[in-house]
Formats: sequence, structure tokens, C-alpha cells
Amino acid sequence: MTDMDLLHCSAMEIADKINKKELSVQAVLDASYGAAEKQADVNAFISLDRAYADRQGKLVQERIDAGEFLPLAGVPVAIKDNICVEGLPATCGSRMLADFAPCYDAEAVKRLKAAGAIIVGKTNMDEFGMGSTTENSYFGPTLHPMDKTRVPGGSSGGSAAALAMGACTLALGSDTGGSVRQPASYCGLVGMKPTYGTVSRFGLVSYASSLEQIGPMGKCVRDVAHLLDVIAGSDGRDVSCIGGRDMPFSESLIRDAEGMRIAVPEDFLTDLPGVQPAVKAAVERGAKLFSEHGAVVEYVRFPRMKNEETILRYAVPAYYTIADAEASSNLARFDGVKYGYRSAGAGNLREQYEKSRGEGFGDEVKRRILLGTYVLSAGFYEDYYRQASRVRRMIRDTFDELFEHYDFILGPVAPTTAPVLHSRSSFMDQYPADIYTIFANLTGMPAITVPLGQDENGLPVGVQLMANVFCDASLLQAAYSLEAYANE
Ligand code: GLN
Repeated sequence: MTDMDLLHCSAMEIADKINKKELSVQAVLDASYGAAEKQADVNAFISLDRAYADRQGKLVQERIDAGEFLPLAGVPVAIKDNICVEGLPATCGSRMLADFAPCYDAEAVKRLKAAGAIIVGKTNMDEFGMGSTTENSYFGPTLHPMDKTRVPGGSSGGSAAALAMGACTLALGSDTGGSVRQPASYCGLVGMKPTYGTVSRFGLVSYASSLEQIGPMGKCVRDVAHLLDVIAGSDGRDVSCIGGRDMPFSESLIRDAEGMRIAVPEDFLTDLPGVQPAVKAAVERGAKLFSEHGAVVEYVRFPRMKNEETILRYAVPAYYTIADAEASSNLARFDGVKYGYRSAGAGNLREQYEKSRGEGFGDEVKRRILLGTYVLSAGFYEDYYRQASRVRRMIRDTFDELFEHYDFILGPVAPTTAPVLHSRSSFMDQYPADIYTIFANLTGMPAITVPLGQDENGLPVGVQLMANVFCDASLLQAAYSLEAYANE
């Protein structure tokens, strides 16, 4: 098999061939590092460690040669740089952690290694996960591998780019408000945010703990389901992690949408400014494919409040209030004392805090720490944080009500396809584009994106499916069916 063929293989094909000894781990690694080097200008990786991968590869090959079956045998996996891998840097895209290399594996990484996967490198990201383009990285932006004038999305943009260019066959991202799903969609991939509590957050550097999950990324739904099977499971070191229901998820991969009840919120398509026609067309195509295959698809509207608004009006402000509040608390640990960047020029302790944080954090991170500290401070807490929590409850109630009548919600992932580099000059342009993805984080429900065509520039467009909490298995079935119908 040529390197080119290998780059197009699914993770399951690679694992199968390696388990059957028809392919060597070495050959797979040669192909992925070849692809990574060929497109080094994409800047998908913060660290790419061939020697580290070769050592793992040797161990995996030994296990295979000894007759062991490994579910992800020799599959090259890229890991977002806020997920700890023992001995490799974990910079979180920040100067603050530029020299930090953890001495332990995140629980998800530990499980990947046990399953025979090979960690090929750590991928670029918006600093601490804060952003939607991978432009907010201390290590420079990542470019879209199919059009280098554009961004791959974010904040897990490095993982998406690495996958799209064939430098890995699976990837892990983290999703606090859409950071797995949105870059997956921009790059023509499948990305999932599992139900909150399915995957351990142990070893994931926290941004907003009540919202985020590590999420699997791959080229097809089948790969993503298998990857989730490997990384999901309860873990005593993350008290919020209880594992998945209906596991193994990969057993639910049946192409059958007969009888599925699917809601398409019309408000997503008509009430928001700036929705690109290709995005709307993809959602409509998804709805049509489902109904042609026996699903009951209905266009619905979110309930109006007394002031005639829907929850769409308040979702983004609530998300940013809660996410920034949690971030301000989580990032307080980076003070130049315990670990992380320490400024050399400080004369006393206070100055050391100020200079270390001032020099170590980028602008977006500082903005969020300021905002988060403000909304939590005495006198403002009731007006902002408490109100945002109320909105979060209302959103949960709205979706609970929808799930009484429907199994899945179909909608866009983002208002547009991949934007041009540096085209969104202000954060005020960027935050509203998270509107479709944040619901899954605010409610805990699982959501997945499936590629469904291209826009007028040939850029990939994806659609998003959401399901009620703990319905990850049936969500994967719906996504698998949609993917199959689209490729018929
Ligand atoms: N764009 C969102 C934010 O900046 C989501 C980021 C994420 O999911 N990590 O918060």
C-alpha cells in the first residue's frame, strides 16, 4: 500500500490491517509524518515528536507480534495541546505554559495508549481554548489545509488541520462551546462533543469545567464511535465523569433512520443574521435525506418569551458570562510561582504576579479573565452570573420540552464556512458565531457534526445533530445513517 492510500484509510481499516499483520506500524507512521512534513506551513502542530512515536510504535508492534488484539492498533492520533501526554509539552497555545511538560497522561490518553494508538504530536489551538479560529495561539495561527488563506476553525483547529492533511487518522480536541465540532465542520470531518461526564477531564487543562468535554474527531462516524468507545468510561479522578450509557457505542452503527423524530429549528435558519446560503442548504439537504429514509422531520420554532424574544437572544451572552467566570477562577493558578511562565524583571511578589500574568497571557485570555472576575465580583454577581445561570436553566427547559416530542435536533454548526485569516477583527464579530454549538455545552447534551457538501468556493459544510443527554449511542446511529445516505 502506498503512503497516499494509507492517508485515505479509516482508522478502523488501519487497525484491522495491523492486527492481521498485513501492515506494519512503521509504515503507517512513515505516511503520517510524511504528510505532516509536506504541509508544515499549515502549522497544525505545536510539537511533533517522531522519536516519541517510534518508541510507542515499537511497543505496539511487539504487542501485535505477540498475538494481542488492539482496537486502535498503530492508529496515528494527534492530541490537542491542552490534553496532557507524559513527557510531551502541553502549552495550551500559551506563552504561560511554553516550557511545561506534564509527568502524567490524561485519562483519555492513557486509554488511547492501552488500545494501541500512537500519539504523533500535540496540536495548535487558541490559547487555553479561547477562540474559534486558532488565531489566538502564542505559536501563530493554523491555516486551513485546503485553502491556506483561511483558518481551519477553532479552538481545536490544529487537530482538525492535522486530520484533514493526513498527518493523523484520529484526533482529540476539547469542546467548551463548539471547539471540536466547528473546526471538524470547517475541515470536512466528523467531530463530537459527548454527553457531559462521558469522558474523564483528568489531564485536560481546565478552561470552563462545567461546560467542557474531550471530544473525538475523525474522517467518518464509524471512526469517531470507535474512538469514543476507547476514551469513554468513569474515572475516580474526575468526579463529574460517570462514563457512557449504551456502550460500546460502535455497536449502534446501523444505517436506519426509519421512525426517527427529527426537529429542525427554523429560528436557526431565519432569525439569525449572516447565515451563508450553503449552510442553510446543507441543513435542508440533511432534513430531506432523513425524511426520504423514513424519518419524521418537522420544522419547529423555539417558544417566544413575554418580550417576543427566544432563548437565541440570550444564549451567547449567557455562555460567555459562565465560561469567562469559570476561566477567571481556573486560570488563577498561573501566577508565576507554582509553575508556568515567571517574569524575570519583578522586584517584589506583587510585581511578580502582575508581570508574569501580564507577559504570559495573550489579549483574549486577559479579556476573559477581566470579564470573568467582573461578573463574579460582589455587587455584580446577581446581575450577571446569576442571570446567566437562569438563562442556562431556561435553555435546558426548552430542550427538555423539545425532546419530549423529538429524538434529534438538526441544525447548522456555524453561520458560515471557514473564514479568511484575520477577517474577524473584533471579538464582537466572533462570539455570535458560536450560537449553534453552545447549547450542547450549556445543557450537557451530546452533539455531532457530519460533513454534508461544499459551498461555492469548494469549502466543506457540515451539519449538526443534537440528542438528549446520555443518548450518545442513538445520536451516533443518526449521524452514521445521515453520512451513509449522503454518500449513496
Ligand atoms: N469559541 C468558544 C470560546 O471561545 C468555544 C471554545 C471552545 O469550545 N473551547 O469560548
